[in-house]
Parts: sequence; structure tokens; C-alpha cells
Amino acid sequence: MSSAPAASSALAAPFVEGLADRELRFQSCSDCGHAQTLAHYACAHCGSTRLAWQTARGTATVHAVTVVSRAPSDEFRALAPYTLVLVTLDEGPRLMAHAEPGVRIGDRVSAGYFAHAGHVLVRFAPAPG
Ligand SMILES: [Zn+2]
Repeated sequence: MSSAPAASSALAAPFVEGLADRELRFQSCSDCGHAQTLAHYACAHCGSTRLAWQTARGTATVHAVTVVSRAPSDEFRALAPYTLVLVTLDEGPRLMAHAEPGVRIGDRVSAGYFAHAGHVLVRFAPAPG
């Protein structure tokens, strides 16, 4: 097993490719059904390596909110101030993403997408209803 940085970006490729298609993908364990975000070699619950990528519905609950007023890189400076959230997808995994200003912990949100600096990024907005 390699721990090289290139390996982790290859692991994340289905997630990044999903974003390009405006889809939110996550890993689901074929053995125990545990769902997890992004790229892991094995199921965090049972250790199985039989992980399959699935597409999330995009609905989630806000778990934490941060307003970033000083962007960490030039790429994000044009967006500042912006809101980041940690959400729990309805399928179970957690995900860090952008959000519309004003979302609060416990809010129901749904995923939208925007292109910035050559990447497609996720931005959650209050879920209708
Ligand atoms: Zn498992």
C-alpha cells in the first residue's frame, strides 16, 4: 500500500469527476453498508476494502458553520468573505463545503455547484420547504 500524495488524489478522482458532472459522490462499503466521504482505502467501520462509489441525493444537515473573512490562498481571495459548512449528508457521511451566507447549525440544506478558478465546488443552500 502506498501513502504517496499521488495515491490519495487518485483515490479522490471519482469525487472530483462527480463534481464536474454536478454530482456529489461518496464511498459505500459493500460489506457493512457504512458510508463515508471522500477517499479512504478501507471502510472506517469494518475495515473492508470493498468500497463502491455512489451518488448522494445532495440533501444534508448543517453540523458546523465557519465564516472565512481572510482567504487562505489567492484562489479564494476573490470569494471572501465566504461561508464554509460541515454537513452530514442524508446518506451518513460528512462533507466540508461552501454554503450560502446565513445558514445555521441544524439547517436542512441541499447541494448546488459553482465553478471557480477551474474547479467545480459544492455550495449548500437552504433546502426548499
Ligand atoms: Zn464496512
